[in-house]
Amino acid sequence: MEEWMKPIDSGPKPGPDAEFDVIVVGGGPGGSAAASYHAMAGSKVLLLEKEIWPRDKICGDAVGGKSLSHVAELGVKPMIESTPHFRVDSIVFSSSDGSEVRVMLPEESFNRLEAGYALPRLQFDYMMFKQATEHVTSNGGSVIQGFSVTEVHVEECHDGPQITGVKGYSGRRRDSDVRSFSAPLTIGAAGYNCPVAKTITESVFKETFRDPDHFCGGYREYWSGVKGCEGSSGPIEIHFIDEVNPGYFWIFPVSEDVVNVGVGMVVSEQRKHEGVRSSLKKMQKWITNESSRFSHRFKDAKMVEGTGKGWQLPFGSPRSSPPSFQPRRGAMAGAMCVGDSASLVDPFTGEGIGNALVSAKLTAKFFDPKEHSGGFPSHLAEDYMVELWDELGNELSNSFKLQGLVKRKRLMSWFVRRASKKPRIGEILTEMIASKEAQGQLYSKWFLFKTIVLP
Ligand SMILES: Cc1cc2nc3c(=O)[nH]c(=O)nc-3n(C[C@H](O)[C@H](O)[C@H](O)COP(=O)(O)OP(=O)(O)OC[C@H]3O[C@@H](n4cnc5c(N)ncnc54)[C@H](O)[C@@H]3O)c2cc1C
Repeated sequence: MEEWMKPIDSGPKPGPDAEFDVIVVGGGPGGSAAASYHAMAGSKVLLLEKEIWPRDKICGDAVGGKSLSHVAELGVKPMIESTPHFRVDSIVFSSSDGSEVRVMLPEESFNRLEAGYALPRLQFDYMMFKQATEHVTSNGGSVIQGFSVTEVHVEECHDGPQITGVKGYSGRRRDSDVRSFSAPLTIGAAGYNCPVAKTITESVFKETFRDPDHFCGGYREYWSGVKGCEGSSGPIEIHFIDEVNPGYFWIFPVSEDVVNVGVGMVVSEQRKHEGVRSSLKKMQKWITNESSRFSHRFKDAKMVEGTGKGWQLPFGSPRSSPPSFQPRRGAMAGAMCVGDSASLVDPFTGEGIGNALVSAKLTAKFFDPKEHSGGFPSHLAEDYMVELWDELGNELSNSFKLQGLVKRKRLMSWFVRRASKKPRIGEILTEMIASKEAQGQLYSKWFLFKTIVLP
């Protein structure tokens, strides 16, 4: 049996009197990284995960440049490199008129770009969670799999409302093995529907949790035998085609002869359509079976049974008039959210793993288990949100501008044609996926005009 299909032994459940500095809700990449970073900084962590490993996560499976320094720091990189994966050496972009550009990535870390990996999340998340279990348990903390958090406790404290812990259950029934835990800090890392993020936005601050203009639907299938996807290294492909606009159709090889194929589209746009375009699954079927551009590549290929599944992506695009913090309030006294729980997915590329890891690391900078034993204060929660937006805001805003460009089909086709002649344009596209850090510079309209239009 493959290593990542084996169960993970997360140790004994904590006793009724166990005390923790940090509770992490969710053990995806954001939660596993947060649990690891806090344990490495000396906190006693409780990591709670709804599923039991091995578990799948619907994704495009591309692990971009920004994630690599974190997977190295957490000790996961050697594990990835020793298991089968696809080495991404370039990215192919195409537009609706069939124009294509292939942007090469440096083999070794170079300037701002670094080639990444593509490998099934079943495998990547296993390694992240296993490593987190080791960091947490060796620092006196506990990990519980199969535990669903259903309630988030809010108490009125001297600092105003404060999150003080969570309640949930183990097993299949909501009334089985119900337990509560409390800690000075709770980290929301349970993905797009995180109960901690919902409590902060909707229950406490009465702000919007789910905005259809900034939420995207995604649908993924695994295939074997797709033409043009042979070998263990090469390009991942992003196709901006009419049928999925604004959004894209992707073809990402994840190992020899296994390819992740999918479509993603903003929810509010998808609702405007009827027929094939109203359903991502139907759209994908049309592209792989009937479209003149792609169907020949799938003619002799086979979809891996049971892998066609949809999921949601909460985008980090800047809101035009946010009630408080950008892109959405993601912290308060007693709690900070990371990754999808903080709505940090890149609105142009759909990449979210990198920002989940960046935000997870940042939470550890703001929390000190000794100083904050009485509760994580609200002013540091605000500082966290401000610093997170300082770090990611420019890049997410650039991506939002590019998402706007994709909506204009002719302009996009012209853009891709220009990119094949002007390497800087290809780099702008690629930096969104393969850059090691967030883009510090906010591209002005003049900069984009100059770069794209002038020779
Ligand atoms: C179709 C699609 C394609 C994508 N492609 C890419 C890509 O190629 N590259 C990329 O970087 N990103 C991609 N993303 C985005 C990426 O999947 C997310 O941004 C990333 O998974 C965020 O990590 P996370 O840890 O914040 O949340 P998640 O990965 O969603 O992890 C959340 C964890 O919390 C657990 N959980 C949920 N509820 C509870 C609860 N109540 N109690 C306890 N535990 C709970 C879940 O079981 C899960 O393990 C894609 C997303 C989709 C939907």
